[in-house]
Amino acid sequence: MVLDNLGDSLKKTIKKIANAVYVDSKLVKEVVRDIQRALLQSDVNVKLVLDLSKKIEQRALEEKPPLGMSNREHVIRIVYDELVHLLGESRELPIKKQIIMMVGLYGQGKTTTCGKLANYFKRKGLRPGLIAGDIHRPAAYEQLQQIAEKVEVPFYGNKNAKDAVQVINEGLERFKRTCDVIIVDTSGRHKLEDDLIKEMKDIFQAVKPDEKLLVMDAAMGQQAAPQAEAFNNAIGITGIILTKLDGTAKGGGALSAASVVHAPILFVGTGEHITDFEVFEPSGFISRLLGMGDIKSLIEKAEETLRDKSAERTAKRLMSGKFDMNDMYEQLNMISGMGPLSKLSEMLPVGFSSRLKSQDMEATQEKMKRFRVIIDSMTEAERKNPEIIKSSRIKRISRGAGVEHKDVKELLRYYEMTKRMIQGFSSDRKLRRNLMRQFQIK
Ligand code: GDP
Ligand code: MG
Repeated sequence: MVLDNLGDSLKKTIKKIANAVYVDSKLVKEVVRDIQRALLQSDVNVKLVLDLSKKIEQRALEEKPPLGMSNREHVIRIVYDELVHLLGESRELPIKKQIIMMVGLYGQGKTTTCGKLANYFKRKGLRPGLIAGDIHRPAAYEQLQQIAEKVEVPFYGNKNAKDAVQVINEGLERFKRTCDVIIVDTSGRHKLEDDLIKEMKDIFQAVKPDEKLLVMDAAMGQQAAPQAEAFNNAIGITGIILTKLDGTAKGGGALSAASVVHAPILFVGTGEHITDFEVFEPSGFISRLLGMGDIKSLIEKAEETLRDKSAERTAKRLMSGKFDMNDMYEQLNMISGMGPLSKLSEMLPVGFSSRLKSQDMEATQEKMKRFRVIIDSMTEAERKNPEIIKSSRIKRISRGAGVEHKDVKELLRYYEMTKRMIQGFSSDRKLRRNLMRQFQIK
């Protein structure tokens, strides 16, 4: 299938987010780089890739997750949102009386798609009719005629026609009262040449179609965007149909075409048969590409193991009575949304956990964030042994963190208090036994 490689890379990236211990700027930058690489390798338009990655990075670093959503889910959500956005708006062809003109280069799948589209409207209860407007390729007439027979819809064409506009006008006249959806096939060329553009414009002016659909092979590559733009400039595209999605092409080029000309992708062709045809829906498509169906369970599982791991680690530290700034940092992370230490806090003595809680309440999110920034500015020696932090170090750290001296002192006080509590707690023998049992620590 087209875009299999892109899907694989993106799924890997999503897993990376779900399994990350911390969602920090390092992870976000890594993820953005991964996505950039994956999209470029799939031939997605370079400018689009740059815009998209800038957007993802900015949102992931600046936006706070909504209530009840973890940091991981939030970043995954942003990646998903922006990829859906890349594909442009979602639109369905109206189920009503209309004239549809199909355009595209030679061999892209126009004639085949005329049949697929006729079948689609027939199933919706409308009466489609097909007009052979490709007068240049000798076999085009028979090809569309056979397709019309297969779908069992009326067909109009003239094997010896010299003028596309004339044939099409005759067809329109013929189907005026008997058909609801008139689908006009047109000729393509190997390249977009002036005479093709002129013919397209002539047809467009004579027919005044409701829809002008560009049919594009998913294998188009980086050429797709400029091609689509040229068609759009000539007659104004109202929608795109991507064909041959059952192939193994990279596909990103054709996908970018939609974004470049601001026309929605309406359908995709997934094979040579009339029924190998699906309505395209950007969000569903991206969900499948990212493996979104699995994402929720993936995140839940990852968070459970993370929670267990950090709870176990903390439990061990607590029992040993050791507690330094690194532990403090971890605790701050857990308190400020990295997932609650629920398992551990259930086992804590009442006084201990409620004291912890009331301190959480006092210390606002902002303060937690400031504390973490301050710890970031410490050397490893200072983190391991915070007792050495005296006035000259306080000065340096506060400068590094961009805070005032009193903020560093406040963190040190908070640290001392927490440490005292933990040491008191580690000497509680009953609690130690309980913890050891819980985590099967020998
Ligand atoms: P046109 O020149 O644009 O009218 O293209 P055609 O409709 O004649 O199609 C060119 C070739 O592509 C034919 O062999 C079709 O069977 C094939 N084709 C069209 N759509 C699809 C598709 O979605 N999947 C596959 N595998 N082949 C397709
Ligand atoms: Mg054709």
